[in-house]
Amino acid sequence: MYPVVHIYPEKIKENALNIKKIFEERGISFTAVTKVTAGNIDVANALIEAGVKSIGDSRIQNIIDMKNAGIDAEYMLLRIPMKDEIELLVKYVDVTLVSEIETVKWINDAAEKTGKIQDIIYMVDVGDLREGVWYENAVEEISKVKDFKNIKLKGIGTNLGCFGGVLPSKENMTTLLNIKKEIEEKLNIKIEIVSGGNTAALPLVEKNLLPEGINHFRLGESIICGTDVTNNRIVPGNNVDTMILEAQIIELKDKPSVPVGEIGFDAFGRKPEFEDKGIRKKAILAIGEQDIIADGLIPLDEKLEVLHASSDHTIVDVTDSEKEYKLGDTIKFRMSYGCLLKVMTGKYVEKIIHK
Ligand SMILES: *Cc1c(COP(=O)(O)O)cnc(C)c1O
Repeated sequence: MYPVVHIYPEKIKENALNIKKIFEERGISFTAVTKVTAGNIDVANALIEAGVKSIGDSRIQNIIDMKNAGIDAEYMLLRIPMKDEIELLVKYVDVTLVSEIETVKWINDAAEKTGKIQDIIYMVDVGDLREGVWYENAVEEISKVKDFKNIKLKGIGTNLGCFGGVLPSKENMTTLLNIKKEIEEKLNIKIEIVSGGNTAALPLVEKNLLPEGINHFRLGESIICGTDVTNNRIVPGNNVDTMILEAQIIELKDKPSVPVGEIGFDAFGRKPEFEDKGIRKKAILAIGEQDIIADGLIPLDEKLEVLHASSDHTIVDVTDSEKEYKLGDTIKFRMSYGCLLKVMTGKYVEKIIHK
């Protein structure tokens, strides 16, 4: 039953192969990130078929589901762990990102009980203001991990382009590398991995601007959606029609483009704005904010315009389309990362896999 999201694992596989080529040529490894699919098993399988060796997700439930489904990979927990999930982490996760020494202590204590050595990647905030120890304090804080017998500092990493929208650059990557060198000298250890970030950092790799020593990335959007929203582009050679949403028309009428009456706030406390284009043909779709983010809907029929959505209704202006839409017809969309995340998480959108 509609709404439906059509999932094309083959196209995601092609994206993974394209990305893999870019990275292999430069001797850099990557973890493919599945969180936007809510740990979808068929997508994970497609990644494995493309030769992906490492899968990252921010939700431990997704990692457990993929592991239980027999998807054989190294699993990376991307969201710095909460206290409540440490025992599961030690059981299911191969390497976890962290940013608090106290959390590392909790992991150490849980790992000690089971005799495991837990790999960690310590996150450094080089400016974006999301997770990580502030770069000026990084050497001092990260050096404290040496006290923990059941912890291995496998790497350090950073995340950019997510909260502050800070772009990855030669400068902030070099900051990360300098921190690595200092810790190695201070603790007399080798740090295997320097994880330079996510899809936002791809241009640095493609343009060969990445400083030597950044040897790992964590990539979701570029593989799953084919896009790079931070840099406002489609990744060259990637498919963007990997997941297509389809919703059904439940009302189709000619109506004015401007409401009649005094305008207050809409169902979500927003004040809608309207441009007077006269009478327009408008379709109401049986899908809404509970399932999607209206701004993130990109109609495949380019002549359509998504106007607005409330909890359960999305209104689309179909006046300019070459197609004669009828009641009961469906409309298809590509989606932004944020919209796709909601669609894959939502229980009212059926997921159909096209093999
Ligand atoms: C989601 C996430 C990624 C992947 O980001 P994309 O922009 O989808 O490539 C990488 N690292 C961390 C910590 C994440 O949470």
